[in-house]
Amino acid sequence: MSKKDSETKEFHAEVRQLLDIVIHSLYTDREIFIRELISNASDALEKLRMTQLTENKIFEGDLPLEVNVTTDEAARTITIADYGIGMTRDELSENLGTIAHSGTKAFLEKTKDGAKPDVIGQFGVGFYSAYMVADKVEVFTHSWQEDEEHLRWESDGASGYTIDGVEGQRRGSRIVVHLKEEHEEFAKTQRVRGIVERYSNFVGFPVNLNGERVNTVEALWLRSKKEVTDEQYKEFYQFTAHAMDNPRYTMHFSADAPLAINALLFVPEENAERMGLGAQPPGVALYCRKVLIDAQPEGLLPEWLRFLRGVVDSEDLPLNISRESMQDTALVRKLNEVITKRFIKFLVKQAEDSPGDYKQFYERFNRFLKEGIVASPAHQELLAGLLRFESSMTDSGEVTSLDGYLDRMKEGQEEIYFLVGPSREVLEKGPYFEGFRDRGLEVAFFTEAVDDYVLEGLREYKGKKLVAANRSGIELEDLPQEGGEDSLNEEETEGLISWLNSALEGRVARVDAGKRLVNHPMVALLPEDAPNAQMRAMMEAMGQEAPESKAKLEVNPRHPLIRQLASMHEDQGELASKVADQLTNHALLAAGMEVNTAEIAEGMAELLGELLE
Ligand code: ADP
Ligand code: MG
Repeated sequence: MSKKDSETKEFHAEVRQLLDIVIHSLYTDREIFIRELISNASDALEKLRMTQLTENKIFEGDLPLEVNVTTDEAARTITIADYGIGMTRDELSENLGTIAHSGTKAFLEKTKDGAKPDVIGQFGVGFYSAYMVADKVEVFTHSWQEDEEHLRWESDGASGYTIDGVEGQRRGSRIVVHLKEEHEEFAKTQRVRGIVERYSNFVGFPVNLNGERVNTVEALWLRSKKEVTDEQYKEFYQFTAHAMDNPRYTMHFSADAPLAINALLFVPEENAERMGLGAQPPGVALYCRKVLIDAQPEGLLPEWLRFLRGVVDSEDLPLNISRESMQDTALVRKLNEVITKRFIKFLVKQAEDSPGDYKQFYERFNRFLKEGIVASPAHQELLAGLLRFESSMTDSGEVTSLDGYLDRMKEGQEEIYFLVGPSREVLEKGPYFEGFRDRGLEVAFFTEAVDDYVLEGLREYKGKKLVAANRSGIELEDLPQEGGEDSLNEEETEGLISWLNSALEGRVARVDAGKRLVNHPMVALLPEDAPNAQMRAMMEAMGQEAPESKAKLEVNPRHPLIRQLASMHEDQGELASKVADQLTNHALLAAGMEVNTAEIAEGMAELLGELLE
């Protein structure tokens, strides 16, 4: 057979099976065939560039290294051409007619069993994706070696292919995709432009569509950090995130082990969710060697990092990957782990280096960190270290951290005390704080609705238990009581307590005399193991029944109201009962435990009426 001869060959059996899989189930979106063909063209150009470094006789050596995409609506074709390395007759047969890689059979066996083809990228199936939309594909090609043939390969993607000689094909390859009627959209400039911009924006060689350059932005993430200016980062951020603001933080890093990663991540200036836009979709796109795999990959980052924007590129990812099979590959999980850890450590460093900027970040984005504490046990402690709050030891408006708290802990103090409430002022004036204040114990003040839930979930930090200061079961040391005559004596106290226990039976778990209180007559403490107010609300919202838990009351034997109560409960039992009821209402209200406010108002009016008579 002379080399000019036309020859027709059957596809290898594996290729036929593979074509079937590719056409029917491998890819989610048909449009990615354009990405695949442009990637092949870019690869061919790169191979030529490498060859030029060592060979001096290159066929048509001065052709530009670019990819040209052209569409022809009338002919219903889309053509992807490159002046790259091209193919010889043998290479055409080998590359487009067989599957040369090892392990092919195993892969096909696996796929037949319905397993996900998660090793797909090793099998070079990108080219065949054209058959999702084409009833015929032609490949015109000439190798970089001058004395090779000018060739045309053609196949309907069904049984086999034909190769014959042609005249005057230039160096490189030209892939003509003859579209099926129902896929004529891919011959329309507008449609194709959108696809090229989406997937191939960062391809390293110029990509022209009908003569017009499409990819104008550089794949900045592959550059070395030292070479990139802030202005370039900003432009890149605005371009990729479709944003108008400046990035608040920019994290650019690369790693070789355990995975090859180049990542460029941005924290936007504002938290869009806080501004009333609903939960954001993932904003960090996944690339493999500058080619988009998924613009909104689900498993790449944990959900609480959805505020991040930018790009992650890993050479280790198979490019020919479908979105479905990507999500749960071990590789993506590993990426997730590495990037999440890097980002948290980045924040830790920012918080140390410029606390002022970090504070601004924190004000806007703390919700996400808190979500992370609850959702990512593996990162809990690092994230908890990023929490900021006011405490009884900070000036108003100044914040501290759990590490700061640990540093200031009193000798022998084993627990970290916190209170959650609407504001620092309210917490400072409330009944829970004073006992800690008088003992010189620091109390951390948290003021967001989610904090209760987050801190309950956190439980401890660096071996110290986090304890809500409104819980019972906290052992506080005795304070020397001054002005003993102002307090009820032991006998009076006991009498009052036993009366209160019977008067309030059913409303509260128990009444005790306590040492915590200074200025308040009575305080309600939540049992150690009971769900707090927030949790109860959440359980109810989820349709679960919150277990009934009654508060424990502590009364202050030094408070005038309590002393009064002690002296009247025997002679004026009914009035004393009403007063005790009202005090209980107030204590429960301060504890955020459910009380019927209408009933309180009514009871109060009745009480006042009685007192005025
Ligand atoms: P992969 O790109 O993963 O190797 P493809 O199915 O996309 O698999 O392509 C198969 C092979 O065909 C490529 O490895 C390459 O050798 C060859 N090929 C495809 N397109 C071109 C092209 N435009 N120029 C030169 N060779 C090409
Ligand atoms: Mg390919």
